[in-house]
Amino acid sequence: MTTTTAHGVGVSPGQVSGPVARVEEPLPEPKATPAPADRDQEAARIGPAAAAVARRLAERAESVKGEARAILETTSAMAGDPTLLANAEKLVRERGLPAPRAVFEAAEEFAALLASAGGYLAERVRDVRDVADRLIAELTGTAPPGVPELSGPAVLVARDLAPADTADLDPRLVLALVTEEGGPTGHTAILARSLGIPAVVAARGVLAAGAVGARVDGDTGEVELSDEPVAVQVAQRPAQRPWDGVGRTADGHPVKVLANIGSATDAAAAAAAGAEGVGLFRTEFCFLAATSEPGVEAQRAAYAEALAPFAGKPVVVRTLDAGADKPLPFLSATDEPNPALGVRGIRVAFDRPEIVDRQLEAIAGAAADTGAEVSVMAPMVATADEAAWFARRARAAGITRAGVMIEVPAAALSAAEVLDAVDFVSIGTNDLAQYTFAADRMLGALAQLNDPWQPALLRLVELVARAGRERGKPVGVCGEAAADGLLAGVLAGLGVTSLSMVTAALGAVGASLAEHSMATCEQAARTAVATAEPAQARQAARDVLHR
Ligand code: PEP
Ligand code: MG
Repeated sequence: MTTTTAHGVGVSPGQVSGPVARVEEPLPEPKATPAPADRDQEAARIGPAAAAVARRLAERAESVKGEARAILETTSAMAGDPTLLANAEKLVRERGLPAPRAVFEAAEEFAALLASAGGYLAERVRDVRDVADRLIAELTGTAPPGVPELSGPAVLVARDLAPADTADLDPRLVLALVTEEGGPTGHTAILARSLGIPAVVAARGVLAAGAVGARVDGDTGEVELSDEPVAVQVAQRPAQRPWDGVGRTADGHPVKVLANIGSATDAAAAAAAGAEGVGLFRTEFCFLAATSEPGVEAQRAAYAEALAPFAGKPVVVRTLDAGADKPLPFLSATDEPNPALGVRGIRVAFDRPEIVDRQLEAIAGAAADTGAEVSVMAPMVATADEAAWFARRARAAGITRAGVMIEVPAAALSAAEVLDAVDFVSIGTNDLAQYTFAADRMLGALAQLNDPWQPALLRLVELVARAGRERGKPVGVCGEAAADGLLAGVLAGLGVTSLSMVTAALGAVGASLAEHSMATCEQAARTAVATAEPAQARQAARDVLHR
């Protein structure tokens, strides 16, 4: 037996072994010839094929709940996207392309737009290609790519997983997920954690190894690949009590468990899952496709729809975070050499304050319409002066609670002064890691540096939390770090007062907090912060929190 070892980032804990099931790669590029004899007839095949794919995805959505359902519904909607279909039909009619090729080209054009936008939008490229592959498979009568039918327990190995692949995975059969690409903040990581499946991402070389069996350590990120079958060994998962819906430690210290949302659909799902409120409403997600600034009334209506399920509950609305990974056509400069370091987030408003003023007016209106307890916060703040500038404008708009995100190391290092200028802060660990380590958060190759267990990142969190404690002001975390059940205990121990995360993680994080006293969390935090690297930090926390 020959074995090789690949190292990735462990994003969901547990040790397992078993046979490898490889997730099929996307279909080969469809040929541009022969031209169809009847272009209209060929174009007319696209609509029904799309309807069939959308229906199947919608049926799968019906059979699952929560986040998985939302993902499958989104993918189903994308399969029926009228613009994509109209563009494909046009390519058949105007250029005489066979329908599968036309779908491929229309999807690639869309994907190129998203990829050039970068970041969050670039993550959608995988979804668009996945939908195109399903349509092409339907049109050509071939099996769609993706997760194979499993007849027994297996370790799934893939280049990356599309949301629709992971959404309805059966945790009884999937021993672990291992991906060659992806990063700690991607959806594979989030879903694996919510399903309790061990997972390792950014494990370079796992595909080339062509392994038959694998041993996976979701804690250390180590994947041992073997050219011979490996006996099935199932992860030992400590039984976790269900979360009772109140965020607190075992001895009653409150740590709010909140949801991150970007739409009214997210808000409804978060409320149904028992979120105590919203710690981050990414308002830019409401307007990603807008080509001009939405008017105050349109903004007010969009925000009110998302706030409605949280009447009487706290909701932190973040002002537009445009630029870099989430460009908005009406706001973002397109010619910056380095958009992540450019005029993004609140910086857009320094030259054009009327934009933030109009948004604050709309948010105040939506708060009045819905009765949600609304606070506002600004993204990408670097100095106390900027924080004070934003708080003044929020108060002028009649919003009493104003805060800022801590995502820039300078803001973390000036936490005391920043907190003096505002009512609360929320740490965006995704960007704070990216800027602290000078490592693009979207690059699989740099995933290790963006690991939220990096001690240097934890030390910055500690510094901010201490400043909050000294001033009696709340310090939240709303980056993906908050979605890791083990890390949640460490963050609470560092003094973080609320955790805001993707809805799928609420139950696991709430239950995990409820297992330990604050003194234990503090001890876990002390030992994790004192380590030299992420694996040691995880192990140190686990040793204290007995996982
Ligand atoms: C973050 O940077 O951690 C954050 C929560 O903001 P976003 O992911 O929207 O950039
Ligand atoms: Mg951010």
